[in-house]
Amino acid sequence: MADLDSLAGLSPAELEAHWMPFTGNRHFKSDPRLFVAAEGMHYTTADGRSVLDAFSGLWCSNLGHGRKEIADAVASQLTGLDYSPAFQFGHPTAFKLAKRLADMAPGDLNRVFFCNSGSEAADTALKIARAYWRAKGRPEKIRLVGRAQGYHGVNFGGISVGGMVGNRKTFGPALDVDHLPHTLLPENAFSRGLPEHGGEAMANRLLDIINLQGAENIAAVMIEPFAGSAGVILPPKGYLKKLRELCTAHDILLIFDEVITGFGRTGSAFAAQEFDVQPDIITTAKGITNGAIPMGAVFASDTIYETFMQGPEHIPELAHGYTYSAHPVACAAAMATLDIYQDEKLFNRVREMAPYFEEALHSLGSESHVVDIRNYGLAGAIQLESRPGEPGKRAMEVVLEAYRRGILLRWTGDTIAVAPPFIIERNQVTQIAETLRDILQEVQ
Ligand code: PLP
Repeated sequence: MADLDSLAGLSPAELEAHWMPFTGNRHFKSDPRLFVAAEGMHYTTADGRSVLDAFSGLWCSNLGHGRKEIADAVASQLTGLDYSPAFQFGHPTAFKLAKRLADMAPGDLNRVFFCNSGSEAADTALKIARAYWRAKGRPEKIRLVGRAQGYHGVNFGGISVGGMVGNRKTFGPALDVDHLPHTLLPENAFSRGLPEHGGEAMANRLLDIINLQGAENIAAVMIEPFAGSAGVILPPKGYLKKLRELCTAHDILLIFDEVITGFGRTGSAFAAQEFDVQPDIITTAKGITNGAIPMGAVFASDTIYETFMQGPEHIPELAHGYTYSAHPVACAAAMATLDIYQDEKLFNRVREMAPYFEEALHSLGSESHVVDIRNYGLAGAIQLESRPGEPGKRAMEVVLEAYRRGILLRWTGDTIAVAPPFIIERNQVTQIAETLRDILQEVQ
């Protein structure tokens, strides 16, 4: 059991009461890791240590922590209009935020549907895609295509198109979905930025699915522009463009899940812009409010929205929504967050910092156990060789040791992911790399 200081005064009963998400509860509760405060680039632990946040919380606190502007906006929204019914009534900030987001989004993705998380955004997008084809008089177009190693949250739609077996296998039948192969190719190991090899060929695998199921039955392909949760798996050059071409040629909607890549992680507002590929729908969450208040947003094209605008005007065109869709407090947090991205030119900062970040990560390439390093913008992954019979254990040990030495990272399988807030300084990038180097030299 951990010492009292690190428990922040929690009783064993309190520790037991919280069933933690995506966490080995028994492992955690035998040695809890508790944060009690956060400011700028750092968390403070219950036992008073400062921990550098090299993971933006959980890919979400892109501006760093404790942003007063967001706190003030939230506080004044709570005392001004704490809640407003999401259905049949509105509040102005929702419309202002939607327009502002539409102005940032690529192409004609001008219609924004609000929800509360990336998982809800994924399921919302999939439902919009199916209902779109029905509204166009093609109700047979319902099949969905995802990708191996994809992560689209944890709801049934998301785990169906998602391709991380651990997240699906214990929950019984999901939707009947086809999956593209992932794009982690051995010949691309240690690529910097987008890998060179295999882009078109991997995208052409969609043709196998089309041949199997018939494009006339397929509603949409949903992928992350780069897979984040599976360990920063990047699309080889030409991959996304080819997928777009194939989707257009076969009347299939292309959905980008930008829950991680959206709001600047690549150096552009959206990865769609960074990679110059226009999807029909984008899903977002996380960085939209800097993680301070839950929110998700789905961006749909004008064409999609207009297709729904038929039938009696008093009947909801899309029978979907959440009590907390466009919650006033989340909208206020998002407005303040967008102000900061803009005022501090933080997407440019990602672009400026990215080469230094890339260099620092790749300097670890010759350390023991390292079998691949991948990076784009301020996202990076160091993949370790798995210990025989103990998949995931080595990376876990590295990340927990890094936490003891004052750096917050994340492991997924045997990959260590790095995704710092955009305000990170060079010396902090160096600190992350050098701490990892020391640990890699020691870990068995
Ligand atoms: N989609 C992607 C690409 C994600 O990375 C995540 C979360 O990491 C989600 C969806 C799910 O988001 P949430 O945990 O907010 O439901």
